[in-house]
Amino acid sequence: MEISARLLEWYKNHHRSLPWRKTRDPYKIWLSEIILQQTRVNQGLPYYLNFIETFPTVDDLARAPQEQVLKLWQGLGYYSRARNLHKAAQQVVEDGGIFPTSYKDLLTLKGVGAYTAAAIASFCYDEVVPVVDGNVYRVLSRLMGISSPINTTPGQKEFRALATMLISKKDPATYNQAIMEFGATHCTPKNPLCNSCPFQTDCVAFNMGKVDELPVKVKKTKVKNLFHHYLVVLTPQNKTILQQRPQSGIWAGLYEFPFVESIGNLLFHELREDQVFQELLGGVRFRESVYNQDPIVHKLSHRKVHAYFWVIETETEIPNAITRDEAAEKPVHVLIERFMREFWNITKE
Ligand code: SF4
Repeated sequence: MEISARLLEWYKNHHRSLPWRKTRDPYKIWLSEIILQQTRVNQGLPYYLNFIETFPTVDDLARAPQEQVLKLWQGLGYYSRARNLHKAAQQVVEDGGIFPTSYKDLLTLKGVGAYTAAAIASFCYDEVVPVVDGNVYRVLSRLMGISSPINTTPGQKEFRALATMLISKKDPATYNQAIMEFGATHCTPKNPLCNSCPFQTDCVAFNMGKVDELPVKVKKTKVKNLFHHYLVVLTPQNKTILQQRPQSGIWAGLYEFPFVESIGNLLFHELREDQVFQELLGGVRFRESVYNQDPIVHKLSHRKVHAYFWVIETETEIPNAITRDEAAEKPVHVLIERFMREFWNITKE
């Protein structure tokens, strides 16, 4: 038996009885789908019932004050969903009170993306368009043993193409319900019910012992914001200080002005209290000015450096200072190069 037929068979015997499954009214299906985004069924159900009771038609919802809609939504979180719900209801009413009847037209409604449009188009109008949500990714990746990451564009394209191939052309509505229900209650993220699974003999993940490894998601590393306050010392003899970076890590071995690193912006009086500043210029008389009020931002793979350059004109010479010409000869990293080019008119060949 092909996959879609087995899914339909499984669904017939195992699906939960939920109110939005007993209707083909696009208003009610749409309401349920928006409420159930990022929300568990048990939590969303009372909200769905409450909305239907308070606003029996899309017209009632459209004409309600926004505050009433938000109040009813209270506790569900992601309030933009409620605002979009209200706006989309007004869109429908402005267009004559009839819900769009195709996947393509449903996408024009505020807050309706590919998943919701596919759900409404298939459940209400039998359009052959697959829903692809987290449940579907999980079921397909395990069943077929696909390790393409589900949070990348090529991965998502691959799964969508597969879902389009597998969907029942005869009964797309029940097929879509079935694969999502199967993912939600049987092939669950943790402890899937493999031992009573109708797909066990064919399931690639089960047979290769990879159930816990699929689906694959690429880890998105969080970009860290760093603030570098470079101290551009200028002595009476027009000398400055450069220091070399360690031989490993970013900009390994390159030169730069001494700098104070912070996780936020600093005022000058905070900067001068820093140990780096004190070791360099403690006890020296100087006049300071800031070269750039807005930071020069440089993105690295996991970091975003916000660079400020503080020009410190000292009244006396500083040990280890070098002339600006000598400084211009040193290999420097991109931020220093930019400062030298813009402030000192120095361009390295
Ligand atoms: S055998 Fe397990 S992993 Fe494979 S489809 Fe069934 S429940 Fe999912």
